[in-house]
Amino acid sequence: MTVPVRRLVPYVTAYEGEALAYQLIVDPHVEATDGIRLSYADPVGTDWLYGVLWYRQGITQTGRPLWKLVNTPRQRRCMMHMLCQVCGRPAADNDGWIWWLMPEPPGTTGGGLPFTHVPPCCRACIPAARALCPRLRHEAHVYTALAAEPFGVVADLYRPAAGRKVVLVQHAVEVPLDAFRRLDFALATQLLVSLDGLQKAEDGPAS
Ligand SMILES: [Zn+2]
Repeated sequence: MTVPVRRLVPYVTAYEGEALAYQLIVDPHVEATDGIRLSYADPVGTDWLYGVLWYRQGITQTGRPLWKLVNTPRQRRCMMHMLCQVCGRPAADNDGWIWWLMPEPPGTTGGGLPFTHVPPCCRACIPAARALCPRLRHEAHVYTALAAEPFGVVADLYRPAAGRKVVLVQHAVEVPLDAFRRLDFALATQLLVSLDGLQKAEDGPAS
């Protein structure tokens, strides 16, 4: 009898069963640049972080894995706590270096720092990540960093329409956390971090 090999699902991968129903609306808000901002019809305080509304998604890891999609709460958790995107455990090694595996070199912030939307990847998971992701098989860059700080979000941008409704204007745009006006009508799906002490690292399994 052949035992099917269960494919490893990375920690950040979204699942079909995590989709939640939601309704976006325009809502008055005193701190918004124009006095209005994007909101949910039934908002709660934890819908916002870093001054931006976040995409609602479950964390049940149930249903079919959606291999190409990232789960928003888990991606954000990885970035805030420097957790490995594959195993979900701390991505720093014993010397305090945080490991990254990126499909392309990081971008550069207005202040000249490197930044990325890709969560860290602990050293032990680098070979598995390369094997799992077709993009990483083609091109992969291994880095270490000393620290990371929230810099921006990947977000869908909306604009107000009639009757408190909103219209999607742009999908998956990178917006810095100081772009307050744009953030008022952004729905964040991923956290971007700027990287301190970034260095190219030797690839290879954990020693
Ligand atoms: Zn790992």
